[in-house]
Amino acid sequence: GKGAAMVTAVAYRLTDQARQIQQTLAEFRLSKAQLLEVKKRMKVEIERGLGKNTHQEATVKMLPTFVRTTPDGTENGDFLALDLGGTNFRVLLVKIRSGKRRTVEMHNKIYAIPIEVMQGTGEELFDHIVHCISDFLDYMGMKSARLPLGFTFSFPCHQTSLDAGILVTWTKGFKATDCEGEDVVELLREAIKRKEEFELDVVAIVNDTVGTMMTCAYEEPTCEVGLIAGTGSNACYMEEMRNIETVEGNEGRMCVNMEWGAFGDNGCLDDIRTIYDQAVDENSLNEGKQRYEKMCSGMYLGEIVRQILLDLTKRGFLFRGQISEALKTRAIFETKFLSQIESDRLALLQVRSILQQLGLDSTCDDSIIVKEVCGTISHRAAQICGAGMAAVVDKIRENRGLEHLEVTVGVDGTLYKLHPHFSRIFQQTVKDLAPKCDVTFLLSEDGSGKGAALITAVGCRQRELEAQ
Ligand code: BGC
Ligand code: MG
Repeated sequence: GKGAAMVTAVAYRLTDQARQIQQTLAEFRLSKAQLLEVKKRMKVEIERGLGKNTHQEATVKMLPTFVRTTPDGTENGDFLALDLGGTNFRVLLVKIRSGKRRTVEMHNKIYAIPIEVMQGTGEELFDHIVHCISDFLDYMGMKSARLPLGFTFSFPCHQTSLDAGILVTWTKGFKATDCEGEDVVELLREAIKRKEEFELDVVAIVNDTVGTMMTCAYEEPTCEVGLIAGTGSNACYMEEMRNIETVEGNEGRMCVNMEWGAFGDNGCLDDIRTIYDQAVDENSLNEGKQRYEKMCSGMYLGEIVRQILLDLTKRGFLFRGQISEALKTRAIFETKFLSQIESDRLALLQVRSILQQLGLDSTCDDSIIVKEVCGTISHRAAQICGAGMAAVVDKIRENRGLEHLEVTVGVDGTLYKLHPHFSRIFQQTVKDLAPKCDVTFLLSEDGSGKGAALITAVGCRQRELEAQ
């Protein structure tokens, strides 16, 4: 009768709805062939970034860092370090002792950088940084020490030496004026002068990937790659000097900051980017830039999820078709929430309570869908990040003419460390896509701080040698 017809209609609508949701998510599920293609394209972009005639127009910049060796344990001294560009801004004091019992002692303080400062003028930003250093030196009772300083600055910089770095472009949540095209070491020195309270010797500017690699290499000499999977995404590795055509000399190696976040900015990933990736890009501070990073780093995963949820809601599949203010809010799904939602130990009721905290009123069915959307997006992120890493380790293997390579990758970043599945899927992907490489992953402990100090120590020693 009529009742049975209605039941059938409801059931049909449900299956049709489920089918449409799956169709949407299918665009994010990449085959092995597609991932191999991502790896292959990364390889092409690496070559373009390294080449003399192609570097200018290349999107993956492959920036030289002037770090020529990993630490050897003889590093020694007291150093200040700054860590700008990750989840937190920190000032650190790092005491490194060489000898039989090597030790590294660290003291640090976290400081907030208000969004008005991140997106205000360059002068305000650097004055704020120096204000924080001043506070830290007071706190440590070290105002008069004139320590050497290593500046971990987690943005793309064109370096011409260890202590000079011209900001290519801001990324992530930063947009301070009058910094792009400027040497950020000079900007820091000028701000220290303006303050007239203390002196410092800025010895090195360091990308966070490089700090991470150096920190892990201090413990494990086979570490020749650094990876950050956090707010942003990037990698560095020891490349042969002969392949780095943008720097004079053919002997030995130099660490190259890949800036792989910009992979795809020339359109080479367009076939796997979805309308949701495009929406995230259009809503960002740097439209058209960092397209790969926008598919695989912590700052953007939640935004991809939100764009999908918005669309599913508009189509009437979620939240009773009602688009709430919360769902319209940029950046509500931080990495820590995504990590919680995807935790296997969490019951659906708890997922609903997290959504509730975010201001999203969900039914049980809604929470199932949200969890699946989150899982699909983080899975793709881990896989395409793994495809990039597979290209890197295979490049190192080919550089050395090896049939088989053993290498260690130093890793840091909130996404890698907090997310319940990212690291596992990432590692599995590297294994699948680079079967001739045996890759060990080592979590760095405070890579940005310790690494900056280690590089500063090497820089100080180099200076003394040159002075002799
Ligand atoms: C920056 C890189 C940095 C990465 C991880 C990216 O947005 O361009 O320099 O290494 O984030 O922090
Ligand atoms: Mg960091």
